[in-house]
Amino acid sequence: MIPNNLKIYNTLTRTTEKFEPLHTGHVGMYVCGPTVYSNAHLGNARTFMSFDVIFRYLTHLGYKVRYVRNITDAGHLESDADEGEDKISKKAKLEQLEPMEIVQRYTIDFHNMMQLFNALPPSIEPTATGHIIEQIEMTKKIIDNGYAYEAEGSIYFDVEKFSKEHNYTILTGRKLEDLMNGTRELGGQDEKRGRLDFALWIKAKPEHLMKWPSPWGVGFPGWHLECSAMSSKYLGDQFDIHGGGMDLAPTHHTNEIAQNLACSHKNPARYWIHTNMLTVNGQKMSKSLGNSFLPHELFTGNHKLLEKGYSPMTVRFFVLQAHYRSTLDFGNEALQAAEKGFTRLMNAVKLMDGVPVSNSSTSDIPTLVANVYAAMNDDFNTPIALSHLFEGVRIINSVNDKKETLSQDDKTLLTKLFNDFVFDILGLKEENEVNTDKIDGLMNMILDVRTDAKAKKDFTTSDLIRDKLKEIGFEIKDGKEGTSYTIN
Ligand code: AMP
Ligand code: ZN
Repeated sequence: MIPNNLKIYNTLTRTTEKFEPLHTGHVGMYVCGPTVYSNAHLGNARTFMSFDVIFRYLTHLGYKVRYVRNITDAGHLESDADEGEDKISKKAKLEQLEPMEIVQRYTIDFHNMMQLFNALPPSIEPTATGHIIEQIEMTKKIIDNGYAYEAEGSIYFDVEKFSKEHNYTILTGRKLEDLMNGTRELGGQDEKRGRLDFALWIKAKPEHLMKWPSPWGVGFPGWHLECSAMSSKYLGDQFDIHGGGMDLAPTHHTNEIAQNLACSHKNPARYWIHTNMLTVNGQKMSKSLGNSFLPHELFTGNHKLLEKGYSPMTVRFFVLQAHYRSTLDFGNEALQAAEKGFTRLMNAVKLMDGVPVSNSSTSDIPTLVANVYAAMNDDFNTPIALSHLFEGVRIINSVNDKKETLSQDDKTLLTKLFNDFVFDILGLKEENEVNTDKIDGLMNMILDVRTDAKAKKDFTTSDLIRDKLKEIGFEIKDGKEGTSYTIN
């Protein structure tokens, strides 16, 4: 274990606190995952990349991390006020597909995107539809404990009752009265008793597609409930870190805390981490505002706001250049600067191995290493960590130009620093441009050798070449015009 000097900004206390895990050597972390009704955009990707770095750093420090990130595949309505259609059902109706076809399509898309950005998969990725029983059980418990009531087949959380005994707005520190004033009054038809009450279970209308039987009739769970049920199932009633984008704090996370407290009398997480938003011209990137970028638009440059395409690692580097709690504005200039920075970093990594060693060093490498750790220990400050790594880049280039010197011990230290931080923690990687011309040239050479073997009736060799190529994904077709290949 690397000594733990980690400090985390905790939304719950609004202070930066020393990180003390509940169980020595272990960390339980829950992050709210995507709602899989459309392609995840770059704003979503920023949040998940930030937690990927947190996951990687905790693991690097020696913790055994159980990282749970859910997939919301039911129950997320269009409005936070328990109104509107289920986002997934709406898309399914629009496209005349099964809701699970929508879920499958966008879950795969999300995974592909995360893989392109070199994000590690979480330890567990539970789905809301896979945990209906747990959500029903939790609802029953909250009713038994007196914090929820039934109305017309739906179950609502009684915020007024809860807030008499608990601080409902503990996470954001807002005043309950202000919240009340900011919420519209209940209409005459409303089943809710109080205007801040929210649904734990919603009675399904006959046309509703995703519904399940429950003690209160056929319905579906409220969105906030899935995270309470799944986090406690896999991480216990109390765990270390809960995260998500900061837009989730006022409603989704506030309600999650209320549900867990009402069920098990425990605030589920000790440290609440919230990422700030990716913005476009200062406005939150969001699908509904029409200013979102999809990853493939970014890679190809095929978007009206882009001058050219940027590689996944350039984008990851761009994300890392801002602290996760600052806003990050998306723009061509910033991306071009990130592209240059990433290339400079990778070029230094390539040089590292071959730089000459001397008897002594002109730079203080142990201090450089300590500075990088200090930055990451200061609430995962990736931009400061990167600025210190760039001091390393400067040293590598200077030593390579024989303007400065590096001892063998320091070279070993610097190499380890770059390997640990650039690759393992920041999750950057080399991007080898696939050179199609070179592949084509190589394949034509191999096919010529095979044609030659065939001409000499050496079918053992020609078949071996065909079979071996097939094994690695090249399909060969012999035709009248010669032999061609396709890549599978
Ligand atoms: P959703 O799929 O809408 O539930 O969002 C998934 C995650 O992405 C949540 O943690 C959101 O807070 C986060 N998110 C949404 N928009 C942005 C944005 N523009 N910048 C950063 N994170 C975002
Ligand atoms: Zn959640």
